[in-house]
This record gives sequence, structure tokens and C-alpha cells, in this order.
Amino acid sequence: MRYKWGIDLGGTKVEGVILDTENNNEIIARLRLPTEQQKGYKHILGQIHGVIQKLEDETGIKPTHIGMGTPGVIDPITNKMKNSNTLCLIGKELRTDMEQLSGLKFKTSNDANCFAVAETIMGAVADLDPKPQVVFGVIMGTGVGGGLVINGNVFEGRHSIAGEWGHNVLDPDGVDCYCGKKGCVEKVIAGPALERYYEEISGTKKSLKDISAAHQKGEDPLATQTVNYMVDNFGKAISYILNTIDPEVVILGGGVGNIPDLLDKAVEATAPYIFNDKVETTFLKPKLGDSAGVFGAALLW
Ligand SMILES: [Zn+2]
Repeated sequence: MRYKWGIDLGGTKVEGVILDTENNNEIIARLRLPTEQQKGYKHILGQIHGVIQKLEDETGIKPTHIGMGTPGVIDPITNKMKNSNTLCLIGKELRTDMEQLSGLKFKTSNDANCFAVAETIMGAVADLDPKPQVVFGVIMGTGVGGGLVINGNVFEGRHSIAGEWGHNVLDPDGVDCYCGKKGCVEKVIAGPALERYYEEISGTKKSLKDISAAHQKGEDPLATQTVNYMVDNFGKAISYILNTIDPEVVILGGGVGNIPDLLDKAVEATAPYIFNDKVETTFLKPKLGDSAGVFGAALLW
């Protein structure tokens, strides 16, 4: 297949892209439509189909296979969507329904997996020599997700949950998580959790952006305490990943992943917890920004 087609299905927009694999994955065309999820599941299917048809009209290229990034994943056992924040998708046979509607073959994966494979093939990892065998892509923002890429391919796992380190339990006495457990990694080091931590120790509400800025300027010891708390807990949480799959590269994405201390101190923070004398893992910033989702979707086939 010379042309790879990707769809990034989000809660607010459906974006599509065509990449030319014979020309260094150059973008042939790219466009978006609103998801309008309040109009329901059938409408979302129509919007996805609409993006494909518009790209086809614009370029004259006919697809056969579509890669699609989804909020949540399709359970490999039930064939139904799960773990989605776009609630009307849960329990639906999204891939089967899209294949019936469009007559095309679909492969789907969640946004963190798309991020990880896009950064591996077209972004932060693309120029590394030698090419790493195993890459772990991390998205830390309002939640904490992750995707595992082995030899350039997304690895989904038995339950399609490979890489979901955000719901490893980090603090058994911690706060309730929507997944039904307590003190998940996401409930300790995602943005809202860190803002709550700062509020507890200072009595003041501040956005994580402001907390990070105050720490950078050295003007607020409690902001520094919050950033240090994040960095230490990140080290503890990521050490479980390193001890289990030992990736050569970890990519740190998302709004929390952007905080400079995290990248600067990742090795130092992981060292006390890893089962090795030294941390040789390479931690990198992502390069593709918001485009990673739709590029990664195209790279699923
Ligand atoms: Zn959880």
C-alpha cells in the first residue's frame, strides 16, 4: 500500500490524513469534521465516513484499509468498545460497523498507542541509530496513558490494555479512580491530582502550569515540593515498566510530560526504584505535537 489512511476519532473532532509511504510519509491531504457526539453513535459513524469520502473526493485516491485512533479500545474478546471517555461508543462494535458502512478494512487502536507508533516512526525516535526494538510512549495530562511499540508495531496485548500504566496502583490508600481502584498512577501524577496535592499543602488553588512556573522561578517552595513529588512518583511508577519490558526509549508526552523537570530528572528519579545499578533508558520529548494521533492511526497497517 503506497498511501496510508489514518483517522483520529476524538471527542470533539474527526481528523483524517493520507500519507505517501514512497515519499517519506509526506502528507497528501488532511482534513477534519466535528464529531458532534451529542447527536449519537450513528452520527459519529457518518462523520468518520464523511472524512474518508471528502479525502477521496479531494485527492482521487481510493482507500482499501483505514487505521483509526479511538478514545478507548475495542476489546479483542467481545469486539466491543471499552475504556472510552466518549460514552456513546462504549459497548458498540465500532470496527465492524465502520467496515459495513464503508466497505473498507479497519484497524483501530487507542490514542496513546497511535502517539507511540507515530513518534517511533515519524517523530522523536525516527532518527535514532540503531533503531530501538522497544519504545514506550507516555501521555501525561488530565489522565495518564501509555503505548507500547515493538519493532515499529503497536503491541495491543491479550486484553488490548498493553501500556496502560496509568491504572497501576501506586498508592493503595489513595483517592478513588473511575476505574474502580484507589490511588492509580493517574490519581497521583496526572494534572488534576497534582493540582489537588498543591491545594492540600498550600490551601491555594493553582493550575499546574502556574505551579510549574512558580517552581521554575524559585519563588514558591510548595510549588517546588509539588514538582518534586511528581518527579519522584513518576520515577517509582515508570520503574515498574522498566523492570517489566525494559524499553530502550521512553517518550514523555502530554501537558504534564512537558514540565521540564520531568525530562531533566527522569533518569535520576527512576534510579532508586529500578532493578539495575544504572538507568540507561533514553527519555525523549515528542516531536509531532497534535499530529501524532492521526499519523499514528495511518501507521497502524
Ligand atoms: Zn484507575
